[in-house]
Amino acid sequence: MSTAVLFKNARLLDPLLGELQEDRDILVEQGLVKEISDRPISTSAARVIDVKGKTVMPGLIDLHVHVVAVELNLARQVHMPNVLVTLRSVPILRGMLRRGFTTVRDAGGAGFAFKQAVESGLAQGPRLFVSGRALSQTGGHGDMRARSDHMGDPTCACCVRVGALARVVDGVDAVRKAAREELQMGADQIKIMASGGVASPTDPVGAFGYCEDEIRAIVDEARARGTYVLAHAYTAAAIARAVRCGVRTIEHGNLVDAPTATLMAQAGAFAVPTLVTYDALASEGESYGLPQESVAKVADVREAGLRSLEIFKAAGVKMGFGSDLLGESQRLQSNEFRLRAEVLSAAEAVASATVVGAEVLGMSDRLGRLVPGALADLLVVDGNPLADVSCLLGQGERIPLVMKEGVIQFDELQ
Ligand code: ZN
Ligand code: ZN
Repeated sequence: MSTAVLFKNARLLDPLLGELQEDRDILVEQGLVKEISDRPISTSAARVIDVKGKTVMPGLIDLHVHVVAVELNLARQVHMPNVLVTLRSVPILRGMLRRGFTTVRDAGGAGFAFKQAVESGLAQGPRLFVSGRALSQTGGHGDMRARSDHMGDPTCACCVRVGALARVVDGVDAVRKAAREELQMGADQIKIMASGGVASPTDPVGAFGYCEDEIRAIVDEARARGTYVLAHAYTAAAIARAVRCGVRTIEHGNLVDAPTATLMAQAGAFAVPTLVTYDALASEGESYGLPQESVAKVADVREAGLRSLEIFKAAGVKMGFGSDLLGESQRLQSNEFRLRAEVLSAAEAVASATVVGAEVLGMSDRLGRLVPGALADLLVVDGNPLADVSCLLGQGERIPLVMKEGVIQFDELQ
């Protein structure tokens, strides 16, 4: 339950201004930031926490996770029993929240039931924006069938395999219906596979996913429900095609070039790089069961990742924070900050996981900044993330308190 809490003497981090404001009192009431003042706030709050010397910042937002990716080998987990996948996702959700991610966008796999489980308190985890199952063409990034398997799609709408992050669907009418189904089942936004990928068996990274008519039909359906499409895409050609068809956020984007980044900026499209997943796949993928055909594809995109940040930045493309980790590697989520800070400033890395994330989710007035009226998603941090992101790394060791919507989730300040 949410009770009133007063944080005293905070160094308040504002990611929009990229600065710390000293000696602030922050009053949280009924799940919201009620008041912020540079004078002492007098209150009858149930709890007063003196955070002198510590930073208070908004909760982090990861725009690209897969909470049901319980294994690195995605083809194998498709056949795992639904109950097992679901139960194994519970500690994954909790780990994200412990690392300070109070909101995540699931980029394929989690559906409405996961939101219900978290919102009801059954599972402890971040606020979820779910995509349901991602849409993939036959032979695309979401098609986990082996080359020798010519049976139909093992999934169907009436019998969802929880371990499948995607569903295979082809043709303008069929993708239109699939998008409607995912929206009817509670998807907040629609995810498509618009190019080949790494963790799938038969699709080259350079392949296109879907023809333009199919992408436009899916974008139409999302817009008709007041939402948008996010697209997995690596190459400049695949990114440009998706953006021209109305896709709003480009996931990964490693092989972007300058003209394509300019096109994105002009269209108001966002990039969600996910550098940490290539690091993880390269360093520990094989040992955790990534198939050989995927190991070979990691190198194609990994090196280009850091360079893509420079290209996006130069063109003025807004970048959200993504991680896209699978299985055992999910614990490395916060390392994305470290990789970004190699190319961008620490303040830019922090902005990607707060204000930019909130903008992508259409929640700029509620998330990403601690201002009166915002949802009280709040972290107490030992250190200044604007100077050095290392205090955000690991498993929350330097984040002694995590609050989500006014409720303290983890607390080592007692
Ligand atoms: Zn992807
Ligand atoms: Zn992904």
